[in-house]
Amino acid sequence: MGAGPGDPGLITVAGRDALARADVVVYDRLAHPALLGHAPAQAERVYVGKEAQRHALPQPEINALLADRALAGKTVVRLKGGDPFVFGRGGEEAEHLRARGVPFVVVPGVTSAIAAPAYAGIPVTHRDAASSFAVVTGHERDDARETGGGRAAGEATGEAEQRRRWDRIAHAADTLVFLMGVEALGEITTRLMENGRDPQTPVALVEWGTWTRQRVATGTLATIVAVARDSGIKPPAVTVVGEVVRWRERLAWFDTGPLFGKRVLVTRAREQASALSERLRQAGAEPVEFPTIRIEPPDDGYAALDDVLPKLSGYDWVVFTSANGVANVWERLGGAGRDARAFGGAKIAAIGPATAAALGERGIRSDFVPTEFVAEAVAAQFPEPVGGRRILLPRAAEAREVLPETWRAAGATVDVVPAYRTVLETDGAAAIRDMLRDGALDVITFTSSSTVKNFREAVGDVPVPAATVLAAIGPVTARTCRELLREPDLVAESYTIDGLVDALAARLKQGENE
Ligand code: SAH
Repeated sequence: MGAGPGDPGLITVAGRDALARADVVVYDRLAHPALLGHAPAQAERVYVGKEAQRHALPQPEINALLADRALAGKTVVRLKGGDPFVFGRGGEEAEHLRARGVPFVVVPGVTSAIAAPAYAGIPVTHRDAASSFAVVTGHERDDARETGGGRAAGEATGEAEQRRRWDRIAHAADTLVFLMGVEALGEITTRLMENGRDPQTPVALVEWGTWTRQRVATGTLATIVAVARDSGIKPPAVTVVGEVVRWRERLAWFDTGPLFGKRVLVTRAREQASALSERLRQAGAEPVEFPTIRIEPPDDGYAALDDVLPKLSGYDWVVFTSANGVANVWERLGGAGRDARAFGGAKIAAIGPATAAALGERGIRSDFVPTEFVAEAVAAQFPEPVGGRRILLPRAAEAREVLPETWRAAGATVDVVPAYRTVLETDGAAAIRDMLRDGALDVITFTSSSTVKNFREAVGDVPVPAATVLAAIGPVTARTCRELLREPDLVAESYTIDGLVDALAARLKQGENE
């Protein structure tokens, strides 16, 4: 299966489905680690590759591992960077499986040969400049040796054949894309010029293409070796040779945004971190997930929640304050053999778009979603007077009391039942303390007061560097940030994930212009 070139969004739907069914995932270093998150938690994860040309497991052992696990009845995903049949040895591995009678499917992937140039703003074809492209290995020698065929190409094929080979390559297509070509760059450029390619032909090197650490260096056939040396470009990188390289000047898009390459700490609960991380990655940032809180069952083991479920239809309003609350209420309902009809005529409110979306996924249209998501605003915007009404709030055990107290004061009967508990997650705190000390975090995001509290507790006394941007999702979170850390550098205008990412982009852009 092809993992795509890096950006975890470039996996295919078929690939994601395959991972979701995997018992075993066998992967190497060019597959983005975030993709492993699509596999079930209990799936076995086997890492088999260290560096491009050196394998932690020799190829015959990888072949044997795949077949052995499959013949033991497991569903095995062989996750490979880019496309599995483009210099990925996918062909050899499939042959081995066939020989041992193991059934398989092939899931193609987005190859770095096309995607790395694309993320550098370089189209491999263009009507004005290139009507063909060729993908070439820059490392035939190692490639041949590693296939285990025992043929050392350079020696066995001789100088004459080498010349014929380079003549063919030089004229193979308008655009040439070399994979595994960084170490042999000197030879590649020399041979291409010897075989008639103009020394002025533009060349681009795209290192870690589509990853948030992407770097691009450009020059010509005559200069690129020096450019590569000066910029320290290392594998993995693709080398693009051809007029299309000039289009980068006009089309660069990925590595030019304000969030590009910024390391952003995401302090949401693990279950929710992915939405924010995904948005950040789309903007070119590198999210570092530090789940400071984890969702657990409430202390009473759902006793209060289970107790209230048969009485749901007796409420005028059920008010959900988070997607976690929605998820747990539905899970307990389902466990009791019931469904959404248990709400009867009760109206349903969602405090925020993510909560409304969680309800929507379960077939419930919210009767009220406030435009501001702090308790005071919710009370003020509520669509009807609450006097005499019965209101249920299934929510976090340790939430603020403002909303129920305001409603009680207005004459409502308010029942608050704990639907979940957020607990401190200290795993990884040491790594974050190190990053803080090294100034390695560009931004820290806070999406609720509890993320600020838990962050403070987890990192202890290590100060937050002045250069690190503190971003709060809303005014309440900002206040906690002010109290426990320092004045936040920005507060989102709309208290949502999108609002937070937009505010961050605006702030960093402004910083660039200063
Ligand atoms: N099957 C892969 C290629 C494997 S060969 C694919 O289709 O992309 C390994 C080579 O691929 C690397 O040496 C490098 O030249 C290239 N490569 C893979 N991922 C890359 C990336 N994200 N950016 C630049 N080059 C990459």
